Parts: sequence; structure tokens; C-alpha cells
Amino acid sequence: MNRSSDLSALEERYGAHNYHPLPVVIAEGEGAWVTDTEGNRYLDWLAAYSAVNFGHRHPRLTAAAHAQLDRITLASRAFRTDTLGPFLSGLAALCRKEAVLPMNTGAEAVETAIKAARKWGYSRKGIAADRARIVVFDGNFHGRTSTIVGFSSDPASREGFGPYSGGFDSIPYSDSAALAAAIGPDTAAVLLEPVQGEAGVLVPPAGWLAEVRRLCDEHGVLMIADEIQSGLGRTGHTFACDREDVTPDVYLLGKALGGGIVPVSAVACDRDVMDVFTPGTHGSTFGGNPLAAAVGAEVVAMLATGEWQRRARDLGEHLEGALAGLDRSKVSDIRVCGLWAGVDLAEGGPSAREVCERMMRLGVLAKETHERTVRIAPPLVITPEEIDQGVAALAEAIG
Ligand code: PLP
Repeated sequence: MNRSSDLSALEERYGAHNYHPLPVVIAEGEGAWVTDTEGNRYLDWLAAYSAVNFGHRHPRLTAAAHAQLDRITLASRAFRTDTLGPFLSGLAALCRKEAVLPMNTGAEAVETAIKAARKWGYSRKGIAADRARIVVFDGNFHGRTSTIVGFSSDPASREGFGPYSGGFDSIPYSDSAALAAAIGPDTAAVLLEPVQGEAGVLVPPAGWLAEVRRLCDEHGVLMIADEIQSGLGRTGHTFACDREDVTPDVYLLGKALGGGIVPVSAVACDRDVMDVFTPGTHGSTFGGNPLAAAVGAEVVAMLATGEWQRRARDLGEHLEGALAGLDRSKVSDIRVCGLWAGVDLAEGGPSAREVCERMMRLGVLAKETHERTVRIAPPLVITPEEIDQGVAALAEAIG
């Protein structure tokens, strides 16, 4: 098979960008599969970092988008559109929250939550002006805006982009004692990923999310769950917080909410928090536009039955079983959470990047995260047989 291979030649033809892409040029996608410009097919084991949870071009989602394209795609936010109400009320019901504010990208949802938490801290908790603090966790990934990278612990994300905005305290992930010590009178919120995706699918120990909830309640602090990568079915539940029956004060959603078609993100919380935004204090030209709302509403309808969550759970068990057969002398750790996994490669063997390039040549597109972790996040439409195919490619690539 003549797979696209030479990265510099491809960059000359298609333009360079900073994502350090695998040397393949995708032209089409359907379900769990993508096809490159030379007609080679690959299993997609990344699903656009969980933005394509329902597979490429899911017929229900493309139909919703097509139908909306024939009606109206963008209107001024000064007016209501008929698609927005059903989207927001459907999503609020899915989140069991009173209000939803639609935005576009994940980072924008995080920024919205930071603003809401600070204003809530001043207006509801009585924190003195400009003193509100937010606790975050080492290894976090919440996006790429200048505020967000300022509290990243990843040098590649952060360095060279200062000066950074203050007001954040970063502590070790899943460390309850550190959290108890970090919360002070000026703490407005704790912002966390219930599973750290970019850090390598790090699943906190059982009971930690409940402990965060308890500490937030005890100290009158908002618990903000960034479920942009972990939410909407990926972990076998609607939200990763559901794994521990924990309800945060604020959900941040994105990625899969746009059905792999349009950028859609959202903040969901109760009125007490949302109402800190009054006319003129926050907004976005494209947030909740009719096309985004039509696709988002269909995503919500698909998730409302629980079928996708069940599927992720079942397939995740299959994935876990298949990964258990990997040569443990080549793999130092395996973490599986629903249909989502991080496989740490043992020191001394090939790097995660090398393994992903080998997998690509075997027809499976996975992506490394950091030096030694291969992240697995296939679309939820994948079959058990296709999971076996991917694990066989991984086994061969690390061999
Ligand atoms: N939060 C989490 C947990 C993410 O994984 C990401 C993206 O990977 C973001 C926020 C940022 O989302 P976006 O790239 O849409 O801004």
C-alpha cells in the first residue's frame, strides 16, 4: 500500500502547522474509519480528541445540519432563534441544571466559567474586589487562551506566553490534603477535569471526586467540572462525574457536543451562578448559532436514551480485556475509563510517537500524549472486532 509518508513533502504541499501531525492526509471519513488522499483506509483511534464520539458523518447529525443549512445558519444574538430554545432546554435537562450558556470552543467555555466563578465570588460569597482565587490541578489541560495557559503546568503550553493572569493556585491532582490546604477565604472555585485527558487519561482514585465535592460544600466554593473531553458518553456515563455520583456546580462541555460537525461548547449550572451574567456582561457572536444549536440538540437527543453511554461502557470492557493481552514488559501502565485509555510505554522501548507512526502504517490512527503515552479514544460506533484490530496493531507496534 502506498501510504502518504514523507512529512516534509506533505507540509510543502498542504502547509505546515504546529500540531506535529502524523504523515497522513485525511480526505474522507465514515463511522470509525477515515480515508487518506491516496485511498488508504485507517481506523480512527483518536476521534478528534473525543469530538467525534458518534463517528464521522453520523446520519442523524448530518441530517440535522443539512436541514438547518436550508433554513438559517446565523442570526444576530440580539434576537432569539427557534432552534436555540430546544437545544438549551434539552442540554439543561441532560445536565440536570437550570441554565445553559452556549459558546463555541472548549477554551471559551472555560473562560466563561472563570468569569462566572469570579463574579459569583464577589457578588454571592463576598470576596473583596479582585481577590478571587481558583484552585486548579497540576497536569491540567483546559485550552489555549492566554489566561488558561498561564495556569498550565506543561512548559510547551505555557512558556513564552506571559505575563500570565493571576488568581490561580495549582496543586497536585487527586490530592485531597493539598486541596483542603489550598482552599482559603478568597477561593471562589475549584476547576478540575474528572479524568485528565491530555495528561494521559489519568483516572483519579475512587472517592476523590466525592471528597472534592465535600470540601467545596464545606467551604462554599464552586466545583467546576471540565467535561469537555470526558463528557457526553466517553467514559460510559453521560459525565465522568457520574462515575462517582458526584454533581458539580458547573459543567463545561464542548468537543462531542458539536457532533464532529460544528464547534459548540456550553456552560451548564444553576441560576444562582448563571445569573451573575447580566445583559452586556458576556457574549459571543457565534455562541448558540442556529446551525450549532440544531446539531447540538440532536447530540443531546442521542445521549438522552443512555444507549451511547451503555455502548461506551461495554466497548470499554472489551478494550480493557484486549489491552490486558499486551506484553507487560513493553507497557508500564494501562488506564481504561469507558472507551478511553492511556497506555504508558515502558522506558527503553520506542517512544509513543514512534509507536503511533508504526500503528499508522498498520492502518490505525492513534496519537501520543507526552513522550510515553498512547491515547486511545475511538468513536463510539467502533465494533469489538475493530477494537481487536487496533489492539493488534498496537501490540505489533510496541513489539
Ligand atoms: N478542556 C479540556 C479537558 C480539553 O481536553 C480541551 C481540548 O482538548 C479543552 C478544554 C479546550 O477545548 P478547545 O480546544 O475546543 O478550546
